[in-house]
Amino acid sequence: MDFAWSDENDAFRTKVSDFLDQNLPNDWQAIARHGPGSREQTEFSLSFCPQLAAAGFLVPHWPAEWGGADRPTWEHFILGEEMWAAGEPRGGQYMNVNWIGPVLMRYGSEEQKHRYLPPMAAGRAIWCQGFSEPGAGSDLASLRTKALRDGDDYIINGQKIWTSYAGLAETCFLLARTGEGRSGIAVFLVPMDTPGIEVRAIPSLIGHGDIHEVFFTDVRIPSSCRLGEEGEGWTIISYALANERVGIPRYEMSSRELDAMVAELKSRGGFGNAAIRTRAAEAAAACDAARMLVYRVVDERARGEPPGTAANLARVAVVEADHKVTDFGMDFLPDCYSGSDHAAFQAHHERAIVTGIAAGAAEIQLNLVARRHLDLPKGA
Ligand SMILES: Cc1cc2nc3c(=O)[nH]c(=O)nc-3n(C[C@H](O)[C@H](O)[C@H](O)COP(=O)(O)OP(=O)(O)OC[C@H]3O[C@@H](n4cnc5c(N)ncnc54)[C@H](O)[C@@H]3O)c2cc1C
Repeated sequence: MDFAWSDENDAFRTKVSDFLDQNLPNDWQAIARHGPGSREQTEFSLSFCPQLAAAGFLVPHWPAEWGGADRPTWEHFILGEEMWAAGEPRGGQYMNVNWIGPVLMRYGSEEQKHRYLPPMAAGRAIWCQGFSEPGAGSDLASLRTKALRDGDDYIINGQKIWTSYAGLAETCFLLARTGEGRSGIAVFLVPMDTPGIEVRAIPSLIGHGDIHEVFFTDVRIPSSCRLGEEGEGWTIISYALANERVGIPRYEMSSRELDAMVAELKSRGGFGNAAIRTRAAEAAAACDAARMLVYRVVDERARGEPPGTAANLARVAVVEADHKVTDFGMDFLPDCYSGSDHAAFQAHHERAIVTGIAAGAAEIQLNLVARRHLDLPKGA
């Protein structure tokens, strides 16, 4: 494969990285220590994303009609790589620009688009994604939260779990059941201050306030909150998830952490051993493989092709790269994972633990690769 960035792409990357160098505050590293999904980073995004928006670096790939600049898909991706390399200062708002906004543009009513897209493009909207439930994670289609029609309203009852950003979000992109099976699932855009919604933080190793349980008890919302038609929920989330799966270029963060680990080892005179160098090379190769597979998906998207199995392969490769880098650090720099001198390594390690679970378990992606890509029979 002959792959190279154009001069225009390189110039755009330099502009983004210069902007980050000049505008991230001095205490950014302390905020970034909490991780891209943290409450701290998401709160920070409410002041930083408006700056990105003003500089044209928040939604350049969106149509001008909705605050974008009709820039190519690849620029959006370069932007994502630079954000992740810097520790993701967009916090939870990366979801808005990557998939919630585009999904609303495709399936939303005019009223929904006018209500939700301008605040997203201005960098002032926090959303959460209400998909997983106790007993319905990998097997999402078995979700049980119900939306019962009552005149011109729906009444929602049920529970979501592991919901990121729910403690700060104004709106939930909620999946609920209006009937049986996959055709009985609908998407609702639910204001989080609607009476009957209760959010409880789940303490976890990645920090307090990162993930939540969300309870819905007789939550009454108007039918204008439904996105698309009643039977259309599964189609909408399939489209959304295809965008979400490669929307997080963690290989960029992993590859820069690996460089920092190698630099640390060199400064200690500890990078001469062939076994250590081989492991570093394997981790670097895994990051590059993930990058190339993700680029394949972006290329398909840029050509307007429908999402295929490349997205599943790419997601597995991203998880593997993350794990290889973190295993390298744990094996050869174990002392860096206690104390406070190497906060970035520690944050990377904590996130790598959950990377194969959040946004869909990696094993499920392997099942999809086996069936759709390798054509293996189900259950083989
Ligand atoms: C940090 C974090 C943030 C998250 N944020 C959100 C969020 O914002 N919104 C949201 O809706 N959800 C969120 N999730 C939930 C996430 O999407 C689910 O955890 C994930 O889909 C797995 O579902 P589960 O937890 O029910 O595990 P299960 O589906 O029960 O899986 C448990 C284990 O069994 C394996 N397994 C299950 N079925 C199979 C199979 N058929 N073949 C092989 N292996 C299988 C899985 O790979 C996994 O290792 C988040 C999770 C984490 C960790």
